[in-house]
Amino acid sequence: MNERPPLSQPPERPHVVIVGGGFGGVAAAKALNHAPVRVTLIDRSNHYLFQPLLYQVTAGTISSGNVASPIRWILRKQPNITVMMAEVTAVDKDRRCIYLNDSDQPHPYDYLVLATGAQGSYFGHDQWATFAPAMKTLGQAEALRDRLVTSFEMAELAEDPVKRKELITFVLVGAGPTGCELAGTFAEKVQFAFKNGFRRIAPSEVRIVLIEAGPRILPMFSETLSKKVLTKLQTLGVEVRLGQAVEHIDEDGVIAAGQRIRCKNVIWTAGVMASPIGQNLGVETDRFGRVKVGPDLTIPRYPEIYVVGDTAHIEAKGKTLPGVAQVALQGGQYAGRSIHARVTGKEAPPFKYVDKGNMATISHNYAAVERGRLQLTGPVGKLGWVYIHLLYLSSMQNRISTFMQWMWLLLFKSRGSAYIVQPVRPVGQTTAEVRATP
Ligand SMILES: Cc1cc2nc3c(=O)[nH]c(=O)nc-3n(C[C@H](O)[C@H](O)[C@H](O)COP(=O)(O)OP(=O)(O)OC[C@H]3O[C@@H](n4cnc5c(N)ncnc54)[C@H](O)[C@@H]3O)c2cc1C
Repeated sequence: MNERPPLSQPPERPHVVIVGGGFGGVAAAKALNHAPVRVTLIDRSNHYLFQPLLYQVTAGTISSGNVASPIRWILRKQPNITVMMAEVTAVDKDRRCIYLNDSDQPHPYDYLVLATGAQGSYFGHDQWATFAPAMKTLGQAEALRDRLVTSFEMAELAEDPVKRKELITFVLVGAGPTGCELAGTFAEKVQFAFKNGFRRIAPSEVRIVLIEAGPRILPMFSETLSKKVLTKLQTLGVEVRLGQAVEHIDEDGVIAAGQRIRCKNVIWTAGVMASPIGQNLGVETDRFGRVKVGPDLTIPRYPEIYVVGDTAHIEAKGKTLPGVAQVALQGGQYAGRSIHARVTGKEAPPFKYVDKGNMATISHNYAAVERGRLQLTGPVGKLGWVYIHLLYLSSMQNRISTFMQWMWLLLFKSRGSAYIVQPVRPVGQTTAEVRATP
């Protein structure tokens, strides 16, 4: 990298390497726009992904292009930035260099910003991943959509009522925002979109079960709001099981609280673990693999290494900040500004997090928003939710097209997309099997 700097970037400028082009990494890059530095942003994928709307890709409400934009396109107007698609496989903090794609060629940096996010965690049961896929990447969200729609297609053909029932029983594990949002949106899709298209499946036959080990859904919300959302989900027909830890998952379904739910579709919307590259730094991490950083988001004894977003364990006012988009955005912005200050001989103040509240949407006209004492639910909450999400989408094109798709859905209760790109059979099923008469 250092040997061939782009012509527009004088080589004598400090070299900032940002790893990860998600919320934190892109925010850091943007904050370095006018800084006298050379920036290299490295991501293993070529797009920035708006993860909070990923479940709508799975539910077929919006298309993939609405939530993903090429990173180099987002940063195209920043001449001091070079974008590279590569995987960072190691960091040598003493030699101040990183390694890409398992090669042994070192790539030096003066400042490093690690913003590599998190990945799904099965709490030590990695074998469950085969039966209960998670939804962290665009590919996973699309594959999950294909799998859910394929299940309906297979159920429409099935002669055996037991097998049919298994195909249209969907279990979601984890009632955080992703689990609740996907359960509500999918329940609504079954009522509106699949109702008329499938002749042999009545919406009332479809079972959507949301299992949560904790005592309530959406633990980041106040108890009142959490209860309201629970009622809304139940109204939509979602069966919510609280205080039930999942004990086993296999090709026949789930065992929770000693009871088996037979089904061919389990979706993992529970825990996450910080990206492994953070642990590669060889400094203290918490039980979720997040790197413990100081008040300036750098690691002890290495003031040139910043860790932000889901990869970082940040303490503020005696609490650990959650793995949410705002923490990543503000952390990334801070890291960029702090580096800018330091290369221009200024001192950077410590990181200060501004809590902007929580929100979750459950149906086309219902969302819950909480900020301090302000609580909004129903259509008013939905308006607030729409506004905030459009604001943070990565481009005007994405904002307009997403808004149009939502409006279409709202006005015409449209089907959204129910097509299958790559048929993904529910675990252990073949077409011949589901057709077999008992
Ligand atoms: C389905 C889902 C729904 C969510 N809903 C909400 C919500 O409603 N509200 C909310 O606030 N938050 C939500 N979140 C959480 C939020 O998206 C994350 O907190 C946020 O994306 C974290 O930003 P980040 O920059 O740390 O990581 P990310 O945005 O995940 O970006 C990390 C980037 O690093 C890249 N990367 C990883 N490892 C490497 C490597 N070794 N080399 C190169 N590149 C690498 C990845 O490709 C990725 O582009 C949701 C998350 C998911 C998955």
